[in-house]
Amino acid sequence: MAKKSKPLLVEVKSTEMVTPNLRRIIFSSDQLADYPDETAGLHIKAFIPKTGQDKPVLPKISPEGRPVWPAPEEKPYVRAYSVSYFDKDTCDIGIDFVMHKKGPASQWAANAKIGDYFGLSRPGGPETMVAEGDFYLFAGDLSALPAMRVLLSRLPEDAKGVAFILTPAKTDRVLLDIKSSEFEVKWLIGDKSDFQVLSKEVSAWDWPESKVSAWVAGESTEVLGIRKYLKTKGLSTKDYYAIPYWKLGESEEMYHAERHDIMEEIT
Ligand SMILES: Cc1cc2nc3c(=O)[nH]c(=O)nc-3n(C[C@H](O)[C@H](O)[C@H](O)COP(=O)(O)OP(=O)(O)OC[C@H]3O[C@@H](n4cnc5c(N)ncnc54)[C@H](O)[C@@H]3O)c2cc1C
Repeated sequence: MAKKSKPLLVEVKSTEMVTPNLRRIIFSSDQLADYPDETAGLHIKAFIPKTGQDKPVLPKISPEGRPVWPAPEEKPYVRAYSVSYFDKDTCDIGIDFVMHKKGPASQWAANAKIGDYFGLSRPGGPETMVAEGDFYLFAGDLSALPAMRVLLSRLPEDAKGVAFILTPAKTDRVLLDIKSSEFEVKWLIGDKSDFQVLSKEVSAWDWPESKVSAWVAGESTEVLGIRKYLKTKGLSTKDYYAIPYWKLGESEEMYHAERHDIMEEIT
């Protein structure tokens, strides 16, 4: 088993509303100098203090490399996020939080102020975030936008493709740095994921002749619906990233094990 490294205690350096429903928090710690250059776009585990704690109680790492957690009532909330910003020189790292405000992570982020403490793991994620392809298909909701924004900015200048992006309101649209003129962005409106807006749009879209690489993230039913559709188009696990980021009506504690089962099937 690979040894786990101890999570970092980081401090809020600044906060900014990127859109009315997306709040960026920049954290800093000298130890971020040790993170990989390409940290933006990767997954990260966040450790959120329980009510009444001013710092999250982070696990110690046993000599065998296993995390040793404090008692359950002290253990922080653990959530997965995407790194939306990273500057190795200034030791700053950013996360864009959806302001749904129904869970502890979103509530913490809504109230966070400069100097507050937070915990972060080292960044990780699949070896390949975006598979090789002749045509790129992206689909995701607001929780996926922070990662998509980074990944879309890294596509080649002649990349052909389309991104379907679902946001609660028009005002949640952000400027995307896409270098290719052959890449189209289709913004969709809606926050009721039970209507499966994204999966309907993706399956109604004219599938191209060329080899498709797909990147899909967001609400679980949406992602699983799109993944099923990708399989009917002949895509295999090496051609796509399709990870459910959250599940309607279930907290991370309720949904965590199910997501891991799904991820094991696709990685
Ligand atoms: C690899 C990965 C990367 C992710 N990146 C990001 C990111 O960059 N930004 C981001 O905001 N989220 C991201 N997420 C999703 C985030 O981890 C979940 O939304 C998480 O559930 C938030 O925790 P919470 O404590 O706020 O809510 P929870 O306590 O987990 O859930 C409470 C309630 O809120 C609902 N809920 C949870 N998330 C949302 C949502 N996004 N919109 C509407 N309702 C919701 C749940 O259905 C539940 O009813 C990512 C998830 C994964 C797996």
